[in-house]
Amino acid sequence: MTRDLFQEGGPYNIRKTGQSSYSMEVRIPPDEHGRTGRECPQDECAPGYFKVKNGTGITEGQTFAYCPYCRFEAEPSDFTSEEQLNYAKKILAREAGIAIGKIFKDSLGFGSTGKKKIGGSFLSVEMSYKEGQPRHVHVPFEEEVLRTVVCPRCGLDHAVFGLAVWCSDCGEDIFMEHVKAEYEVIRVMLADIDRRRNDLGPRIAARDLENCLEDTVSIFEAVLKAMLTRYLKESGETEENIQKLFSARIRNGFQSPKRSMAIIKNRTQAELFEGFLEDKIEFLASTFDKRHPITHNLGVMDKKYLASAIEAEREGREVRITKEEIEEAIKLSIEALSGLHSRMFCNQTTHE
Ligand SMILES: [Zn+2]
Ligand SMILES: [Zn+2]
Repeated sequence: MTRDLFQEGGPYNIRKTGQSSYSMEVRIPPDEHGRTGRECPQDECAPGYFKVKNGTGITEGQTFAYCPYCRFEAEPSDFTSEEQLNYAKKILAREAGIAIGKIFKDSLGFGSTGKKKIGGSFLSVEMSYKEGQPRHVHVPFEEEVLRTVVCPRCGLDHAVFGLAVWCSDCGEDIFMEHVKAEYEVIRVMLADIDRRRNDLGPRIAARDLENCLEDTVSIFEAVLKAMLTRYLKESGETEENIQKLFSARIRNGFQSPKRSMAIIKNRTQAELFEGFLEDKIEFLASTFDKRHPITHNLGVMDKKYLASAIEAEREGREVRITKEEIEEAIKLSIEALSGLHSRMFCNQTTHE
């Protein structure tokens, strides 16, 4: 007697695909936000891990997916993580175990009671069959990925680590969407400062402002670093030389708008502040500069800071930072970085 190992259908949509082959669908459970982890198949890709929300982006006939970090192109199923693959294998093993148990029970003639009596009137043996408890399969561990963005071109809702470049579904360059999303976080914090001043006092509000300025500068620096790295890599520069350039030459140069302008011009021939009026660049530079007394002295005025503050006051400069100044600095930063991004990368096609 031959019988099928699996019954078709069921929660895993089992289908018989050949004499002794079956297909089975194991859905990877999404996180609490409805996103599922994905992993770049390229071993050397870092960070390589990201998440996508099922049902957004390209929902039909998707033949290729892309890594947001390195733009590696492969079938969507190739982006399954090791952890998820193990999960699917465990589910499969569990289902097979249940199915084999059933066949075993049926072929030996155990009824629904799981008991069977053999023998005659002189000797009889009673056997019983007890099915093992199917093992619980733990859902795969997923990383917490906080940077979320929706692709403006295909609508894919996804989350990445750091500053990614490519949309995982349509493969378009959406770097500036990630950058804008980063600045948006600061805007939201700035918008909440008045409430926090009322609820928690001026000291907390002052620290909030300092942190927002610090973040504004950090994003500017990280974005320029990411853009120059990409530019140099695409020009054939080695990873090692790029690292060396940043650690030995550029160092914290991208924390200063004017030095950034010179570095970018020198390395790429592109203009960071194309079409900017001089006073806008000055404004950005002096706003960024206001973080030095803050970060270097942890907000505590030392003699040197006091001297420079007095001097600034004498010259009519304001040393304190305001919410409006940070908002303006964010606006100018996005304008400069978007312009530079299109000058540096938009001439190239994103499709091979
Ligand atoms: Zn990758
Ligand atoms: Zn897209």
